[in-house]
Amino acid sequence: MTEKSLIEEKFRDIEYNLKTINEDIAEAAVKSGRKPEDIEFMAVTKTVDEMYINHALDCGIKLIGENKVQEMLRKKPNLKLDGVRKNLIGHLQSNKASQIVGEVDMIESVDSLKIAREIGKQSLKKGIVTDVLLEVNIGMEESKTGFMPDEVPEKIYEIAEIEGIKVCGLMTIPPICEKNAELCKFFNKIYNMYVDIDSKIIDNVCMRVLSMGMSGDYTEAILCGSNHVRIGSKIFGPRIY
Ligand SMILES: *Cc1c(COP(=O)(O)O)cnc(C)c1O
Repeated sequence: MTEKSLIEEKFRDIEYNLKTINEDIAEAAVKSGRKPEDIEFMAVTKTVDEMYINHALDCGIKLIGENKVQEMLRKKPNLKLDGVRKNLIGHLQSNKASQIVGEVDMIESVDSLKIAREIGKQSLKKGIVTDVLLEVNIGMEESKTGFMPDEVPEKIYEIAEIEGIKVCGLMTIPPICEKNAELCKFFNKIYNMYVDIDSKIIDNVCMRVLSMGMSGDYTEAILCGSNHVRIGSKIFGPRIY
């Protein structure tokens, strides 16, 4: 095949995948008593070429996510981002906070008090408020960053005091589970935490985003209360690093 026909084939794959995912999202939304438009669909674009990202944007994607600061900044000028929001979803080092604050619409991966303070500080310098989610290590895995589930209800008050950020919800990546029932246990746990925090009505905290669900588990995540799914490989194919 010529390169051109390979690209066209990949474009068609992306269109088909987006259609399938949109249908799955709509069905899971209705099943869980909500409307399709209540669920935000993020295309995770890490390692994906700008040409394919732009195709997904042409197909109606309104939210993208990258997990690395440099990659986000490098690709941004080449993307058709009119009316499109972009979020950082990967671990952020303190020394990179100044580069990313003001360049994204939300930082979903606030995984420590330290980085929350740094984002706040850099935001104040730029005269803005940065929307953030707290990343929760719901399975308490050593390999993952994030707040431990037990510390969130307490730390949320400390984080709420930080100027320059606004806490808009929670984000999580659950452990790999063999059984759906096990996976849902983790999803339910963070959903309950989300509802619980919301009910406390804390100044500067507004629980409106529950970011969970990726290519392999977005349907289950929505059924368990997610309103924001982050999907990469199911749209663009396996990642080549
Ligand atoms: C890569 C990534 C995703 C998407 O993963 P897929 O399994 O390819 O859908 C979602 N969330 C985060 C934080 C990621 O780094």
